[in-house]
Amino acid sequence: MCTDKMNAMMQKEWFRHKKILVVGLGISGFESAMWLHSVGADVLVTDVQPLGEIRSAYLCELDMAGISVQAGMPLETVPDDTDMVVISPGVSPCMDALKAARKREIPVIGELELAFCVIDRPIIAVTGTNGKTTVTSLIGSLLDNAGISAFVGGNIGTPLIAYARGGKDADYLVAEVSSFQLETVHTFTPFISIILNISPDHLGRHGNFKTYVNTKLGIYKNQGPGQHIIINDEDESLKAVNIDSGAVVHRYGFMPDKMRHAFIDGHYVYASADGASEHLFSLERCRLLGRHNQENILAVVMCGLILGIGDHVIQKTIDEFRGLPNRLERVAEKDGIVFYNDSKATNIDSAIKAVLTLDPPIILIAGGRHKGADYGPLEKVSRGRVKMGIFLGEAGDMLTETFEGSIPAVKVNTMEEAVRRAYACASCGDTVLLSPACSSFDMFSDYVHRGRAFVEAVKKVLNG
Ligand code: ADP
Repeated sequence: MCTDKMNAMMQKEWFRHKKILVVGLGISGFESAMWLHSVGADVLVTDVQPLGEIRSAYLCELDMAGISVQAGMPLETVPDDTDMVVISPGVSPCMDALKAARKREIPVIGELELAFCVIDRPIIAVTGTNGKTTVTSLIGSLLDNAGISAFVGGNIGTPLIAYARGGKDADYLVAEVSSFQLETVHTFTPFISIILNISPDHLGRHGNFKTYVNTKLGIYKNQGPGQHIIINDEDESLKAVNIDSGAVVHRYGFMPDKMRHAFIDGHYVYASADGASEHLFSLERCRLLGRHNQENILAVVMCGLILGIGDHVIQKTIDEFRGLPNRLERVAEKDGIVFYNDSKATNIDSAIKAVLTLDPPIILIAGGRHKGADYGPLEKVSRGRVKMGIFLGEAGDMLTETFEGSIPAVKVNTMEEAVRRAYACASCGDTVLLSPACSSFDMFSDYVHRGRAFVEAVKKVLNG
């Protein structure tokens, strides 16, 4: 399976009575196991976490379906009689047991590849270091406004394989695709691929920036005639990319440029999907903040034009989208001090964008689990805009050392202490911004938990 252009029905048949090992029991592993079981595969699921750490609802459903689970030990070896291994995005394909399986010619694929092989619907796939969820959601709203049915999933929440299990029909699948997912695709071919930007992130998993960039660019490697690539050619890491593809390439960037299919001039988006007819969209009613979000809109507009969606529907989508929680979300205001929750800024570039977007003077709360990149560029853009840095978590000391000397900086131990310090030194007209530039896993279960802790601390501090 998955090696030639078999149709989705034949692909499903292939799995009957095959022995499939699913590695990782998060949402992707769970949905993969349930789908594989539904088409008659003999499924075994393994996870390094002990049973108590795994979601009990997954364990319960797998048990009811009669699917075996091995929990609490690392995968030492893949059994010889295994026909295929399906891994979750959180599982590195470089694990010794998986390397050994590949040597024995046991295919190792990810959930995204599995979904692509068995779902017979065109896919719009969105990747990039930042903005994926925003753009994926915007495209979901765009299709909805146009009366086109869509399943919106992937890294944004529900894995694509859940569509195969769901029984509902959709015209398109809109998929947020992470670099971890792209590590394990072979034949994955979207109808439209969108590459928003690439900046250093996840270097621990990918080893170096070059590998990370190449993994992201893998999104279009199988595309050809009749398919489309939308790429931000103003992005530092993308502008030099020479796309050798039979697919139609649509380049966009913020600054006006004749070579671009979409750009911004004043308050307007100028765009053309075919290079001939020009379309104009106003940004005056757009509620998303910042130049980076205007770039996101360019990608969405291009996607709409390729799909033949009417200008008024595209404009309505731009006007009505309210933004997502935990992304430059205005959460409180008191005494002329405004508080923003940007907890989803889990890397340096997204925090830089927040500092550049919001009105100075800014009191910046940042820190969390260090992901290997340099905080120097964040300190540089903060000069003259950030009046104080308040840092917490495992990266707290590193951030404090990077900032002090040019910007007052303190290290604190809790989110509440961070908000208390921020409020104490803020005056009317200041912005208090949580934009961590780090992942949340040192102190919180995820970025949503971190955002909630910030909002709760703000409420507590403001209410005395
Ligand atoms: P992702 O799904 O790629 O993590 P999100 O849409 O969830 O992206 O946004 C994550 C963070 O990145 C937020 O802080 C958001 O403000 C910021 N962001 C959104 N779009 C961009 C962009 N085009 N460039 C840089 N940062 C962005």
